[in-house]
Amino acid sequence: MSPDRPRILITTRRLPAEAAARAGAGRSAAFYAGAVRDAGGDPVLVAPGDPLPARVDGVLLSGGVDVHPRHYRQAIHPGVAHTLTLDEQRDLLELDLARRALDHDLPVLGICRGAQVLTVAAGGTLWQDLSLAGVDPTRHDQDGRHADWEPAHGIRVEPASRLAGVLGGGALGVNSFHHQAIASPAPGFAVVARADDGTVEAVESTGHRFAVGVQWHPERMVAHHPVQRRLFAALVAAARRG
Ligand code: MN
Repeated sequence: MSPDRPRILITTRRLPAEAAARAGAGRSAAFYAGAVRDAGGDPVLVAPGDPLPARVDGVLLSGGVDVHPRHYRQAIHPGVAHTLTLDEQRDLLELDLARRALDHDLPVLGICRGAQVLTVAAGGTLWQDLSLAGVDPTRHDQDGRHADWEPAHGIRVEPASRLAGVLGGGALGVNSFHHQAIASPAPGFAVVARADDGTVEAVESTGHRFAVGVQWHPERMVAHHPVQRRLFAALVAAARRG
């Protein structure tokens, strides 16, 4: 039985009500939920501490703060400690969900932090700050320079990849709101897009039906760059086939 509108679990952060009001929280989650709904999915938002829905057809690991380096067997690097923001409750929820999705071959899309969570859950590592990779982090943080939906830098999608089957291979402009990136992809995952400066911008599993991580924020681009809708359509289609 394939569900008509597959249920897509979307992870989100837990904020105190006051901070949420200040930050306009819900705003961020609304972009993910809207993109999933427009693609034909039924979004279910889950924050740390929430009960998990009984049935899920796919998982979207959303953007947010940094994964604690202990999850990839590193201490916090003293030189970049000031750049890290952590949420240990979210780490535990999302690493568990990512591993369960991979174990059950449930379609999973990781976005920004989500691509990093997917990588760490499967045994890969991250750069704690892009400066450690010899990359200028300001090139990957467009806040204050471009609107959320505007591309900030180019990427190249590996033409032979499954991601190329979704987005097309070759050059593409993407937005950018990250100071970390994937250092070593997880075993069983391939790097399928890089920024012009070499930064890993997308990974995909070679052994799962659909396990993809992208470092940009397609949910912020869909209104102006329809090609980005295909990522959510691909997640929902894979979930429907489940
Ligand atoms: Mn970037």
